[in-house]
Amino acid sequence: MSSGSDVDPVDAAEETIFTWGAPPLKFGAGAADEIGFDMAQFGAQRVLVLTDPGIAALGIPQRVAENMKRYGINAEVFDGVHIEPTDAAFETAVEYARARGPWDGFVAVGGGSAIDTAKAVNLLTSCSGELMDYVNKPIGRAEVPSKQLKPLVAVPTTAGTGAESTAMCVLDILSMKVKTGISHWRLRPALAVVDPLLTMTLPPEVTASAGMDIVCHAVESYTAKWYADSGRHRPEERVTYCGSNPVSDLWCERAMGLIAKSFRRAVHSGAEDVEARTDMMMAATFAGMGFGNAGVHIPHANGYPIAGMVKEYRPAGYPQDEPMVPHGQSVSLTAPEAFRFSFPSAPERHLRAAEMLAPQTEMLPDPVEQLPHVLVDLMRDIGIPNGIGAVGYGESDVPDLVPGTMKQQRLLSTCPRPVGEEEIERILLRSVQNW
Ligand SMILES: [Zn+2]
Repeated sequence: MSSGSDVDPVDAAEETIFTWGAPPLKFGAGAADEIGFDMAQFGAQRVLVLTDPGIAALGIPQRVAENMKRYGINAEVFDGVHIEPTDAAFETAVEYARARGPWDGFVAVGGGSAIDTAKAVNLLTSCSGELMDYVNKPIGRAEVPSKQLKPLVAVPTTAGTGAESTAMCVLDILSMKVKTGISHWRLRPALAVVDPLLTMTLPPEVTASAGMDIVCHAVESYTAKWYADSGRHRPEERVTYCGSNPVSDLWCERAMGLIAKSFRRAVHSGAEDVEARTDMMMAATFAGMGFGNAGVHIPHANGYPIAGMVKEYRPAGYPQDEPMVPHGQSVSLTAPEAFRFSFPSAPERHLRAAEMLAPQTEMLPDPVEQLPHVLVDLMRDIGIPNGIGAVGYGESDVPDLVPGTMKQQRLLSTCPRPVGEEEIERILLRSVQNW
């Protein structure tokens, strides 16, 4: 059998191929009440529903479990998901699932934390090995799942992470004080069930933070290194995040248009405004379909240490029992400065993003400032903290944050401009205060 490696019909120096994947989608008001039907289509008889205590208190996971029982499915609820999960939290969920398994399928009900925990549980109950075997290099061993996982139905309850579309999960490694992830296409949910009615009661602060995550997903993907600007990959080396490409661009553009239309409304009058909530849910889903294939870059890479090294910050609208920087805040706080830095690599894309996010904004004399200006204007309007200074970091903390960003090489490699320690340090220093 030929390895195929010695016969290459195209120029081996340049990438000519991009990939794009997304789960099937069921979208709309009431979709969450059809999961019994959907799970039955996968032939599942024993299903574990994973959620966090806050969502469990709203009764949503129990409602989903009851619905599955009507289709003859034996469903059990695990409500021990930890918000911004750690390796220890993942392991607790995995131990629970392994002890009470085997399962034919999983349903994740919640934000990114619940969906990511369910991805890890699905991986570690379907395949052998331990968590660190699969965590991204250099922190873990980045092993590849050996087989198809069980069907996972992801039901987001916030409009933000896009975790229902993506093939990765994020976690904090406690002993190293670092946030990292597992990424492989097999982790992608088998079905995304997106029901805007589940987001009606989200507090404004959560709506704002999660919405900034959508903004960053869309703009980072849209400005990510173009897929053909990477060296050619062999099929076995081809990564989930291939850089911006014609298909991910479409989704990101549509997401930005929905943000422009409905983000401020969803924050300020979301409790009554079903249309604004629906637009934000759709924006999150679309941006997930974009960044889940293109990848994100500096703002998300900085978000890892900003969230991972939190000191005393306790944001309004979130559980107050421990300090945390919500994901959407952590990734957006350095975004204005990061996009000043990445501007020269693709000026027209930065300007186009600014125009889609805020079509009415006048052109500034300096084009570099257009996108940062639009982002700062939005962040001020919806109550996002003013820079990393407002979540507890001063200039003297910046040298400690830099290594945490540099560890995110998988993300930094998607940056359209080469970026090293000095550049990251400058971006963080200039993000202590954004306005
Ligand atoms: Zn994100």
